[in-house]
Amino acid sequence: MSSLPEDLPLPPPAAPLAAGEVALVGTGPGDPELLTVRALRLMQQADVILYDNLVSPAIMALLGDAAQRIYVGKERSRHTMRQEAINELMVDLARAGHRVVRLKGGDPFIFGRGGEEIETLSAHGIRFQVVPGVTAAAGVAAYAGIPLTHRDYAHSCLLVTGHLRDGTMNLDWPALARPGQTLVCYMGFQGLPELCAKLVEHGLPGATPAAIVQQGTQPGQRVVTGTLETLAQRAAQARLAPPTLIIVGDVVRLREKLAWFEQAGRAPAGAPAGTPDPADS
Ligand code: SAH
Repeated sequence: MSSLPEDLPLPPPAAPLAAGEVALVGTGPGDPELLTVRALRLMQQADVILYDNLVSPAIMALLGDAAQRIYVGKERSRHTMRQEAINELMVDLARAGHRVVRLKGGDPFIFGRGGEEIETLSAHGIRFQVVPGVTAAAGVAAYAGIPLTHRDYAHSCLLVTGHLRDGTMNLDWPALARPGQTLVCYMGFQGLPELCAKLVEHGLPGATPAAIVQQGTQPGQRVVTGTLETLAQRAAQARLAPPTLIIVGDVVRLREKLAWFEQAGRAPAGAPAGTPDPADS
């Protein structure tokens, strides 16, 4: 698929991307079918596309050949483009009269530094627009069969980043360890053992269900479930690799019944649906 089918009853097109304008576009967690109509339209109007590793190959495959692609992501060690350099590059491209699309995994404003990027554009008087995307919490949980706020189990859902600062996680642990709440941790792969241990230390039962999802919504989706006591070890045994999303709370238990994505044969079964996890009981 390289463009929208003509027979879909789509809303009339919004104003096209203007010369010298930047669109900050959320692409969702990877499945190209989770792109918004607006995201796809803008991607196809761009002269220059800036992207990073969180934009899935399947989404990159939707781009036409006409646009120039510039990789601005973090690559192994060296070729990291600093945030300031990305911001400046966008200003330069827009000033040169290009129609620029900056693709962001998930939603640009949820742990995506989208705010910083458009602050710079705003400061330089560059015209811009923001297109929201399905954030990983919503998309990955849906495809993993975990209803984040099922009312029998949770009355709130907290999104946090587990990005390590100076080797420790700098989080408000008492607020995270509240019962009746679902916790979703972005960028928590490295800190998983610490996250689980701290939550137990601050009062959550060790038997609290927890899941870690690699490459959610994509053909390579893998889900490992367990409890706060077992998840870190199970994730290590399964040799998961980032990007992963961690979900903690009683809602994780529902996956046993609701794991539709694997059942439909769209992804390998990480933990088979319907198989109770002995450590959960
Ligand atoms: N703006 C993005 C988040 C960027 S931070 C959003 O709204 O989703 C990057 C983190 O997002 C990753 O470390 C991981 O925790 C999570 N993430 C993004 N896509 C994911 C996916 N397909 N599967 C699992 N986790 C994902």
